[in-house]
Formats: sequence, C-alpha cells, structure tokens
Amino acid sequence: MARNLGPVCRLCRREGLKLFLKGERCYSDKCAIERRNYPPGAHGQARTRFSEFAIRLREKQKVKRIYGLQEKQFESYFIEANRLPGNTGESLLLLLERRLDNVVYRLGFASSIAQSRQLVRHGHYLVNGKKVTVPSYLVSVGEVVSIAEGSRQKKVIVEAIEMAQRRGVPPWITLEREQFRGSLRSLPARADLTMPISEKLIVEHYSR
Ligand code: SF4
Repeated sequence: MARNLGPVCRLCRREGLKLFLKGERCYSDKCAIERRNYPPGAHGQARTRFSEFAIRLREKQKVKRIYGLQEKQFESYFIEANRLPGNTGESLLLLLERRLDNVVYRLGFASSIAQSRQLVRHGHYLVNGKKVTVPSYLVSVGEVVSIAEGSRQKKVIVEAIEMAQRRGVPPWITLEREQFRGSLRSLPARADLTMPISEKLIVEHYSR
C-alpha cells in the first residue's frame, strides 16, 4: 500500500480514536476527534455493523497507523514476532515500540512519530554516540539515544521537548532531559502500553 499523503486526522476518525499523529494539534481543541468523532466520508454518520473480518482488519490498521507503517513493513514485523518465543501479539508490539523513531518520540525529542522518522533520517539523533539514520533501527535495553549536539537548538526539536513535558515519559524509559539523552530501562511490559490495542485480533487477522 502506498504511503498516505492525505489528511492524517481522517485516519484517527476512521479508527474512532486519537492516534496522536499531529503533535501539538492532538492536544488542542482543534483535534478532529474532539470535533467530529465519526468516520470520514458521506456515510460516516450512518450506523455500521462490522463483520468479524472487518473488526480484525480495523485493529490491524489502527496499530499500523499508530506506528506509521506500510502494509509490507507491518507484515514483516508480524512474521518476525511469530518466530519469537512467547505471545506473538505482545512480541509484535514490543518490536514496534523498540523502533528508533518510536523511542525518539517517547523520549519527547520529536512531537510525533512521523516527525521523528523524518528527523532520524536527517541524522539528528545518535545511538551510543553514533549517528543512526534508520528509523526502523531496533533500540536495545541500555543503548543511549541522544540528540546530536548541533541539533539541540533546532526549532522543531526545542518545541517538541517543551511539548513533551506535558506528555511525560513511559516507565520503561529513562530520560535525562538536560543531557538531551535517554535509554530503555527495560523492555516495556504489556501493561505499560496504554493505547487501547487488542493484539489478539491482529494475530487472528493474520492467521485466518
Ligand atoms: Fe488524530 Fe491528532 Fe488529528 Fe486529533 S489532531 S485527529 S489525535 S492526528
């Protein structure tokens, strides 16, 4: 599937949930979900009964959109998670959370995952002191993610850090804001991932 270039708020409205794709706007009363919490399109307000297939598809689409992935990428994470021992759904979420673009966002060094991905590609972040420009890089426990020295005063990054103070940092991440760095304290436990996601439905979707 091609990259979505349309208005991203439509994606939240489609899923009926704030996916936090637009940074500052998501926390304001301009958020489209606050104003029009029904699916986009001419029949958005019509009553719809979802089939079993559609329920599972929507769950997969929701998670894919939260992390800003394309179909093929998401599927390859599922295949990888399926290979790992333990619960496939949880392994899938764990892999997604470890992506560098996600960790940068969770640390508050970018205001959305989409912005984080762009800034990672442009070389504004380091892992263990080395520039990493691959958003899908999987961060391991103990690796230090930091903002490159020359990027610390960059307007978008300064604004993102200010905004993130309202958002807070998840318990599995250690942030040293003054040093512009942070790391994974541990891998997140399922209970630490607070978005309303039913990973079981995603596993069922791919197992059909
Ligand atoms: Fe989603 Fe943010 Fe748009 Fe609200 S403002 S609909 S949370 S992307």
